[in-house]
Amino acid sequence: MATYRQIHTSFWQDGFVLGLTPEEKYFYIYLMTNSKTTQCGIYELPKRVIEMETGYNRETVDKLLDRFIKFGRIQYEEIHSEIMLMNWHKYNFLKSPKVISKIKQELLNVKTARFRERVLAILEESGLADKTLYRMANKTEIPRSLAAEVFERDKRCVRCNSETDLTIDHIFPRNIGGTNVKDNLRVLCRSCNSKRPTIGKALEDDLKLDGLTLDDFERICMSKPYHENPIPYQETAIPYQQKEEEKEKEKEKEIKDNIYAPPFNDPIKNHLHRLCEKCKLKGYNIVSADDLFEYIDKMEIEVIESAIKKAYDKHFNYAINTLEGWLKEGKTKVIYLKPKRRDDIARPRTSVAGDDFDYNSLSL
Ligand SMILES: [Zn+2]
Repeated sequence: MATYRQIHTSFWQDGFVLGLTPEEKYFYIYLMTNSKTTQCGIYELPKRVIEMETGYNRETVDKLLDRFIKFGRIQYEEIHSEIMLMNWHKYNFLKSPKVISKIKQELLNVKTARFRERVLAILEESGLADKTLYRMANKTEIPRSLAAEVFERDKRCVRCNSETDLTIDHIFPRNIGGTNVKDNLRVLCRSCNSKRPTIGKALEDDLKLDGLTLDDFERICMSKPYHENPIPYQETAIPYQQKEEEKEKEKEKEIKDNIYAPPFNDPIKNHLHRLCEKCKLKGYNIVSADDLFEYIDKMEIEVIESAIKKAYDKHFNYAINTLEGWLKEGKTKVIYLKPKRRDDIARPRTSVAGDDFDYNSLSL
């Protein structure tokens, strides 16, 4: 099946793209259109493949990747050779259920947790994520008393009937976000458990043994939230030893995760809100946020982002004053914030907007 990637005609007028060198433009298009690209914007791209396909040598590939990382346009995870296009979702996340389902499936194969979590957060902010997607990023240990319930129910390995060396198995594995709900847990002997694949096609095939597909994820993993239950813990039957304090911590985390909801109806406002929190702006809260939101219609969002990042660890008013200053100077587009650039690909550069801010220090 032929795969096409679309580039919006406004690409060439985009403030960021206008500021790029010809080499950078070529490289950017390569990153968005090569055969490894995915619907979710995260894909495996070994450097040797980049070298082969673009014709650049390793040194240039490293420099270009590094530069786009500093621009805040990509992130690259060396261990898994995975790349994430930071703005991909703006143009490629459609509300079509087919696309969302595709993204969901792709995310199961993403190896870099922080990449996966970012996409899940974006989907959540855009109102595109069901809770399943959000929970896929979460991993927790099985509460002891829940394990007890599962042993009580199954009593033996549900695959081979063995009654020895029993363990608790996540039907949808934790690495793809399988939750600690009773319906997703079962007893397997260690041998059957260790044979189970945890990712990709092999997992899909394994799930078929139980008459399941990835589409059952939501039904099973989101079935019932876990509540502490009075069934007594039986020391001998359960290999899960969990310290009381760990259990407490986990409960606190679970509560925190469950009550978190974006405070505004608008995804852009939520995005800026999170950025302000991440940048630890003093004196910032959801009431003072209104002062910030006034600028949304007056300038590009990237400009507002720059002002917030510039105010990192300072007072919220610093960001507002910066914005007011930029507005007066007519700096309403991110391109106006950039220093003059030469077409010199080898010249090291550390920032795009402002001259004292290192974009690398923030993962957004
Ligand atoms: Zn077994």
